[in-house]
Amino acid sequence: MDFLKKLITPDDLAEQMPLSKELKAKKQKQDSELRAIFAGESNKFVLAIGPCSADRVEPVVDYTIRLGELQKEVADNILIIPRVYTGKPRTIGNGYKGIIHQPYIGSREDMAAGVMAMRNIHLKVIEASGLFPVDELLYPELVQYVSDLLGYIVIGARSVENQQHRLVSSGIEVPVGMKNPISGDIAVMLNAIETAQSPHHFLFNGWEVISGGNEFTHAVLRGYVDGSGKAMENYSYENLKTIQAAYLSRDLENPAIIVDCNHGNSNKQYLKQMDIAADVLNSMEKDQSLQRIIKGLMIESYIEDGNQPVNGDVYGKSITDPCLGWDKTEKLILEINKRLEAMK
Ligand code: PEP
Ligand code: MN
Repeated sequence: MDFLKKLITPDDLAEQMPLSKELKAKKQKQDSELRAIFAGESNKFVLAIGPCSADRVEPVVDYTIRLGELQKEVADNILIIPRVYTGKPRTIGNGYKGIIHQPYIGSREDMAAGVMAMRNIHLKVIEASGLFPVDELLYPELVQYVSDLLGYIVIGARSVENQQHRLVSSGIEVPVGMKNPISGDIAVMLNAIETAQSPHHFLFNGWEVISGGNEFTHAVLRGYVDGSGKAMENYSYENLKTIQAAYLSRDLENPAIIVDCNHGNSNKQYLKQMDIAADVLNSMEKDQSLQRIIKGLMIESYIEDGNQPVNGDVYGKSITDPCLGWDKTEKLILEINKRLEAMK
């Protein structure tokens, strides 16, 4: 390989793009709120919601401002965490890999600028919406560039069996969601949770480091693909009961499940996300123990319904997985809020 450019350091980037003192204090508040949810001390429901990929600053900020407004309305029952996904894993390695690779769509890959674009879009979202985002930790070595900004982190289905992702998660201060792998093997996800909940000694960004373990590492169910390539769900009542039993048979801290309504669960039929959300709430209503273990939903949503090619120019329309548009999203969040209120 050719070594192209040396990256700016995380400290230098944070100095160039700092989080204000007020927002730092606000983040501490949200961090404790989220920890309380995962510890079972708060009954609020998490909605990790937003576009599949945070492709452009303007529509993403516009979208998250709308979420920020809605958050005020549903604050008694819901904690909204905007999905601001800056790195996209690709099944066969090609295609759009996120703002980290390509800060400007249509221009060439530039990752030295991409690292700055990653911090910039998270910071702009926080400043405009007052909400602290979730990102996928696609490249663990980049976490220090945004760890003071992220409210929540997820390890994707293609990374969850990787040792470095698991060890770095054990040193992260916010809750980390471990997705089930593409194959659907629940044991792999539980092994990832167990690994990240323990302290570790490892190498990270040119350092030998130790971590304390992350007691808020938990499960994210995203559906899966079976041996014949068919998309399979894992959100039904029966799926949830089986997975809950497997989870509780292990000695893990703060057992918690987030259900991802898109991906394998919807087979990317993005409108189905509304039915899946309703179905999960039905299961929670039916079974008190599910009500305790299910802490929230992940939903792929943007301004416009569906998706478009990477070079498409529709404002606020996904260029990766199809998303629920804003009007349907707003209705869905209000409906979830109503049902949670009734469940109290
Ligand atoms: C995503 O959340 O957009 C994603 C790529 O998820 P997964 O890792 O579940 O495929
Ligand atoms: Mn997606």
